[in-house]
Amino acid sequence: MNKVELEKIKVKALQEHIPIIMDDTLEVIAKILQEKQPKRILEIGTAVGYSAICFSEYLADEGIIDTIERDEERIEEAKKNFVKAEVAGKIILHEGDAVEILPTLNEKYDVVFIDAAKGKYPFFLSEALRMLNDDGIIIADNILYKGYVMSDYNKHKQRTAVRNLREYIKETTENPALDTEILEVGDGLAISRFNNWGRGKKLKWEKGTVLFSHFWEFGTVLYWVGNFYTKNLSLWGWC
Ligand code: SAH
Ligand code: MG
Repeated sequence: MNKVELEKIKVKALQEHIPIIMDDTLEVIAKILQEKQPKRILEIGTAVGYSAICFSEYLADEGIIDTIERDEERIEEAKKNFVKAEVAGKIILHEGDAVEILPTLNEKYDVVFIDAAKGKYPFFLSEALRMLNDDGIIIADNILYKGYVMSDYNKHKQRTAVRNLREYIKETTENPALDTEILEVGDGLAISRFNNWGRGKKLKWEKGTVLFSHFWEFGTVLYWVGNFYTKNLSLWGWC
């Protein structure tokens, strides 16, 4: 990768107010990628390609990044940037709306990076889960959206975005197959990994894992029964 060109791409993007990944966010993701050495990464939201170029440094040999962008000007610039940064062979740019493109993809990904329309995060999550490897990681940027998401302020004109980001956090934190952490770096970063239960669901032929996964399923059932009871029955005075 050509680091001199990468720096130029970054400076230009910042000058043009293109919302590229922030330095502290990139640092966190770089550590994860370094450890994982992914073979295949999916990025939703290329912009001018800055984050994809950065991520390409951590791919395993022959690794590939699929990245999706719908803005025509940014697509053209991203293509040029991939060539300038000497990473064009590692990145496949899918041109168009991710809502239409994602259902047509059927690869298995080690890492999915969500960094596009905030109102679509729950949909992006369901598509990411469909294509994620057993030990995969889903990372979502801008998850705290300038602090709106964790405040009770909901009159903002961006309230659809805020509602969907909250929905994303709820789904990832409540899904028993995922371990999710929300970090206050940059504009907020959600990192979700399949845990043993999530993997257990898939590796069901391994005896130990089956037991382990049933243990958790039993726990989840108890949790929902308990929840239902406290929320409904006790209110109706049946207890
Ligand atoms: N990941 C980039 C920044 C992405 S900014 C980086 O860090 O360098 C978000 C981008 O997502 C914008 O360029 C926007 O055009 C694109 N985008 C938003 N919604 C999209 C959608 N539904 N489909 C495809 N691209 C989308
Ligand atoms: Mg972002």
